[in-house]
Amino acid sequence: MIESINRSLCRLHHQNHCHLVGNATSGLVLALGALGVKGKKVAIPNGVCPNVPVAVLLSGNAPVYIDISANDLGLSIADLRSRGADVAAVIAVHAYGSVGNIAGLVDYCRATGIPLIEDLAVAQGAKSNGRAVGSFGDVAVVSFGSGKIIDVGHGGAVLSRRRSVHDAVVALDGKLDACRPESKDAVSKFSRRHTDLYNQYYPDRLHLVCDSFKADAMALRSNILFRFDRSYVSAIESGLDRLSVLLRDRARKVSYLEKRLAAARASDVTIFRPNDGSIYWRFNLFVDERDVLLRHLLHKRFRVSSWFPSVDMFLEDRSKTGVVTPVSDEIGARIINFWVNEDVDFDYLNQVVLELSMHAQTVRGATNGGREG
Ligand SMILES: *Cc1c(COP(=O)(O)O)cnc(C)c1O
Repeated sequence: MIESINRSLCRLHHQNHCHLVGNATSGLVLALGALGVKGKKVAIPNGVCPNVPVAVLLSGNAPVYIDISANDLGLSIADLRSRGADVAAVIAVHAYGSVGNIAGLVDYCRATGIPLIEDLAVAQGAKSNGRAVGSFGDVAVVSFGSGKIIDVGHGGAVLSRRRSVHDAVVALDGKLDACRPESKDAVSKFSRRHTDLYNQYYPDRLHLVCDSFKADAMALRSNILFRFDRSYVSAIESGLDRLSVLLRDRARKVSYLEKRLAAARASDVTIFRPNDGSIYWRFNLFVDERDVLLRHLLHKRFRVSSWFPSVDMFLEDRSKTGVVTPVSDEIGARIINFWVNEDVDFDYLNQVVLELSMHAQTVRGATNGGREG
């Protein structure tokens, strides 16, 4: 039942109102609309998936791409202070399941009198100082889409503190179309184009194609913004029932990888260790010669990715915007993400460790060879 999902989500995220939506992208657009943010600038972290700036653009606002903090991969409050003077809202993303300095962002938004939207598309179940993520923002947005923590391939939720905001979300959502089967293909095509541009143009030549990618994003409106499909209710209910099991399973896989990697002396990799209370979307490493390793692993059909490159470059030309986000750029160049969801088992993780230790040997071999030569 929808009502019982709404109640569960409000309880889980300590919010007052909940409305199920077609996906988190629609959720972000509805949240901005319901908060009355239009024709304004909206701060987002630059190390995120394209859906976040695309949602800002589709809501009739302009993203301001803020650098991230190397500690938690969330919005850098220092950079927000220095470049966010004229923003009308902040979207805080708990990227990679890592909890950022959300209490600091709450303080910032209170002090400046602007709304805070929490995006927990990949962090459902995480806590910051013992308090559930999704409970800090004026509005919180959840996803049940592909690759998320509760993955049913459709849907999301918008949770709000105030009744008036919730009512506005419901009213705006009522104007969206129902989800059509063709939409899935259009969204997949857009996401493939993002990957293709990444492979072919990132980072130095993206300015050649960013205008056309932005036009594609804007043209996606009728395919990416849609209402919730009630046929997913029972899948979401059982996902919510299993949430703590899912999170424990992910954490177990991560701690196994950490232990095995330490034993394998894969010294060329640095494990990203998120703050306490974080959950694991994927297992993240920073690696020198990342692209060599990535190509090798993809060739061998491992489940890996190198998300997220700084997203501004896909949508804007830096020579015009002057965006400067060195931490996000550096993370984007060195990060590699390994699946730790139900698609992978411990045998598979052993293969991952084997590949990583062979990579480390190759790197060491190359270094020694260089010295000897
Ligand atoms: C996936 C994702 C979204 C979009 O979620 P959908 O439900 O696929 O629209 C938004 N924000 C973040 C951080 C995401 O990872």
